[in-house]
Amino acid sequence: MSQVPASIDFRANAQQVPPKMPAAVQKATAKFLGTRAALVEALGNDFWQVLRQAGHDIRLHSILHMDHYLEQAERAVTAAGGHVHWATDAAAACGIVLDIARRHGVRLAVKSKSMATEEIGLNHALEAEGIRVLETDLGEYIVQLKGMGPAHIVVPAFHLSKEEIADLFREKLGVDAQPEAENLTQIARAKLREEFLAADLGISGGNFLIAETGTVITVTNEGNGRMCCTVPPVHVAVVGIDKVVPDWESLTVLLKLLARSATGQKLSCYTQFISGLPRASEETGPQEFHLVLVDNGRSRILRTPECRETSLCIRCGACLNICPVYNSVGGYTYGYPISGPTGAMFAPQILGGAAAGALPFASTLCGACNDICPVKIPITDILLHLRHRVVEGDEQEGRTAPYPLKVGAQIGAAAMSTPWLYRVGSQLLKRLQAPLVSEGWIAKLPPPLNRWTMSRPFPAFAADFRRWWRSRKAGC
Ligand code: SF4
Repeated sequence: MSQVPASIDFRANAQQVPPKMPAAVQKATAKFLGTRAALVEALGNDFWQVLRQAGHDIRLHSILHMDHYLEQAERAVTAAGGHVHWATDAAAACGIVLDIARRHGVRLAVKSKSMATEEIGLNHALEAEGIRVLETDLGEYIVQLKGMGPAHIVVPAFHLSKEEIADLFREKLGVDAQPEAENLTQIARAKLREEFLAADLGISGGNFLIAETGTVITVTNEGNGRMCCTVPPVHVAVVGIDKVVPDWESLTVLLKLLARSATGQKLSCYTQFISGLPRASEETGPQEFHLVLVDNGRSRILRTPECRETSLCIRCGACLNICPVYNSVGGYTYGYPISGPTGAMFAPQILGGAAAGALPFASTLCGACNDICPVKIPITDILLHLRHRVVEGDEQEGRTAPYPLKVGAQIGAAAMSTPWLYRVGSQLLKRLQAPLVSEGWIAKLPPPLNRWTMSRPFPAFAADFRRWWRSRKAGC
């Protein structure tokens, strides 16, 4: 449903956050973090750390040998009666799905939850050609009715209350909806059932792609994914090339990590395995199966050693749940369907610094995301490298930061690394700030420095830091 803007203005988006949003987000993330923590405790932290390391090693091995495993997967899918398509970018991926849809005269496509299709803007591409696309994951269905994209990569509508959803159903579906989870689910279920039966095309994503058998794995908590993959006559799975893993043994480790980290479950309710066309003994399933493998910048991510572990991500959402920035501003502020720390790593590398250069700065670098990540991605190191890319440029991309920011950063760096300049500068700053300081804090800074003090006081510059440091060392 999402359409990514040409340039993401995180700061401006943050100003638009509805007042009730942070509390709703924090209530939901606290619940997920609580259930996750209980399961990790039950497993034992030592074993959990062993699992995390194994998950990291499997994913790293997979992406470093991606060419080999993708070709192996392609052979397996083809042998099982499926068709494999390679898409270099978002436009190519949408074009492939459109071609398939046109060939089959598709008028209605039903979709299970897929961040890859959000990333490439597939719904917009199909709808522009007159094909109706219906999201069938309950959360995605709700946000689609609202005309929005997902606010969280695992639980798209978790910021909405039952009352808000009941109002939405009354307004958009013309039904007498009650603000009760069961009633709302029944309404959506009845509406979606008719659509599943009428659909000409089913679209899914894929959490993993097993190279040895060409099997696409989808991990969900609702039966809609299974309906999308089995009821319509044609099924298209849109999968990022970084989702490939070598074998079923690897999968067992990753599934243990994913469900626990995402929703605090030992295993999700529905874990589907799609290997090409249905066998002769199977009663249901599509007559045609297409796997669209999407690059869209993933190869470029692999070419930068400092950033390549971005591709280990299994999209569990745990880093969103723990992130103080995400908890304060919610998912829409990121202006990209993949939000939170993982989106802050991924989006600038996919869209480029000119469009998404603000996102690596949307982090306190507290490191909570590193600690919770089930595949041990060094998220803050990658964000720091991306900040450096934005300001200085690197071998992948030139500088995209405005010139004054670069000059300001250079002056700051020079002052911090030249003792006499630091001394003179700090004395000057001490005098300049004196009229504004009260009990060690500055309540209001003048423009253009006032962004911080719009919402909180700023600590006064500690001009005596060097003296304090010397006295501390002398006392040791
Ligand atoms: S970066 Fe790690 S914690 Fe965040 S979504 Fe990806 S796998 Fe999960």
